[in-house]
Amino acid sequence: MKVVIVGGVAGGATAAARLRRLDEQAEIIVFERSGYISYANCGLPYYIGGVITDPEELTLQTPENFFSRFRVAMKVRHEVTGLHPERKTVSVKNLETGEEFEESYDKLILSPGAKPTQPKLPGTGIGRLFTLRTVEDTLRIKEHINQHHPKSAILAGGGFIGLELAENLRELGMEVTIVQRPKQLMNPFDADMAAMIHGEMRRHGVRLVLGQTVEGFEEKDGGVDVLLKDNAPLHGDMVVLAIGVTPDTALAREAGLELGIKGSIVVNDRMETSVPGIYAAGDAVQVTHSVTGEDALLSLAGPANKQGRIIADNICGGDSRYAGSQGSSVIKVFDMTAAVTGINEAHGRKAGLDVDTVILSPMSHAGYYPGGRVMTMKVVFEKETYRLLGAQIVGYEGVDKRIDVLATAIHAGLKATELKDLDLAYAPPYSSAKDPVNMAGFMIDNIAEGILKQWHLEDVDALPCDGSVTLLDARTAGEYAQGHIQGFCNIPVDELRERLAEIEKGKPVYVICQSGLRSYIACRILEGHGFEAYNFSGGFRFYDAVRNDRRLVESAAACGMDIPVRPLPGKAFIASES
Ligand code: FAD
Repeated sequence: MKVVIVGGVAGGATAAARLRRLDEQAEIIVFERSGYISYANCGLPYYIGGVITDPEELTLQTPENFFSRFRVAMKVRHEVTGLHPERKTVSVKNLETGEEFEESYDKLILSPGAKPTQPKLPGTGIGRLFTLRTVEDTLRIKEHINQHHPKSAILAGGGFIGLELAENLRELGMEVTIVQRPKQLMNPFDADMAAMIHGEMRRHGVRLVLGQTVEGFEEKDGGVDVLLKDNAPLHGDMVVLAIGVTPDTALAREAGLELGIKGSIVVNDRMETSVPGIYAAGDAVQVTHSVTGEDALLSLAGPANKQGRIIADNICGGDSRYAGSQGSSVIKVFDMTAAVTGINEAHGRKAGLDVDTVILSPMSHAGYYPGGRVMTMKVVFEKETYRLLGAQIVGYEGVDKRIDVLATAIHAGLKATELKDLDLAYAPPYSSAKDPVNMAGFMIDNIAEGILKQWHLEDVDALPCDGSVTLLDARTAGEYAQGHIQGFCNIPVDELRERLAEIEKGKPVYVICQSGLRSYIACRILEGHGFEAYNFSGGFRFYDAVRNDRRLVESAAACGMDIPVRPLPGKAFIASES
């Protein structure tokens, strides 16, 4: 059997290695357009920032290593220029010599990845404007920085690559601005959770110019003007375009393979394309979202590697199936970690699901053991069924492990209420006897049992100020004085039982505290005395962070100018809205 593979990185290299482990006799040829195979795309921004110093660290394998271990012919600087399913061959161009030839196959695997989305805007071809996909792109950016010492960079796009670059360029001492049309970074997160990411970026001096449409690029004063639709241009010494990726599927289109979203290759769960004998993996393929069942594009390394393995199994006579993608991902944002799995609240609503959420602020480990930090966790579930739909966490240590527990729970089909039952490892330096994931489960179980009724951030503006409800802040007088939502009266939770007479009977009580814990206790006291009480999900800390962020984003969107990049003054404010 002869297998030809297009693309020698995540999906392609995995398929090649697995094929060899399953079939010692197969002839395996990989064509890779760039000069490198099996390189660490995910490490590229960290080489630019100097965290990874040796470029050889970026290549996990060389063609020679790969050949000596797997006897796979890794043909780098070879571009496949055409697919001919009717005669089972591919056209190949040797980019070193210019030689062109046809290679036959019994089975063909496509793992060509995705290319940086290039908007059709004036000036996208100018110098000092870069994209980041390959090792070569990385070396080009690094060389430019070393030679020209740019002092400022504008990143068009605030997704994973934009954020990782922002951090790394900032670490090099550059002034960094992120500009994009959406009013939040990192769209896998809900806007409220993204506010925590915005805060960390601003704390580290990254300017966020959100809600701005980029209309083109012009070389100016030795740098680049980024032209905005409604505002004055932004100027930077260099620009990186990171507005997303598009499946690199021109070959598949020309060969008549069935295509899906954004020209991605349609495959079944065995990773077979519409043409017999041709398989496809990675960023180039359309996947099924395992939570919603929708067609989706999720460009991540984990799925690409798994799909490559599945293809090899199936070519070798097995029957491996891809279970779909859940979008689990994690990113370092300066000192913080942000992670997500499944769908967010906005996605759930768009998909027509009746969703509810809990937002909590647990410590990373036992409060009495030094070094614990607060994380913000949002768990999304379906109201009636308590099906677990997704989770987002922004914090410091322990974020990655909690998101992986939640990802596993979603994959296993656990109900959100069952999170309380997970028997998770505990010692004070690592967790609490009630792990944050268990805590989310307790809260959701309380909702299911009718013990906890919540109100959310979106309800704040709609709260009636005509006296028909009671608005209660259960924090201490000192905390209340530092900032509260207008219209809320203050009765600290520990005084509540003695001061119940101050609360009018027969009216619902909306309660808030700093994190949501004291207000929950206050709600239980109130319910125990015949009141109908609702707990604010996330607490004032969350409310304050999100509201402050929204103001900053809106004012930047209105004037198109930079928003403050220094630490925000005062943690709290007295909101003008009721
Ligand atoms: P790739 O790994 O991109 O490989 C495709 C290869 O095919 C390319 O090398 C290309 O040169 C080659 N090719 C394309 N067309 C041809 C042709 N016609 N002939 C020959 N060769 C061809 N994912 C994460 O999960 N976590 C991260 O932290 C993360 N960080 C990232 C950071 C950066 C800067 C980038 C660019 C990506 C990152 N990703 C991350 C995404 C992840 O790298 C991809 O999802 C994954 O590599 C996709 O694997 P693939 O095999 O589909 O494509």
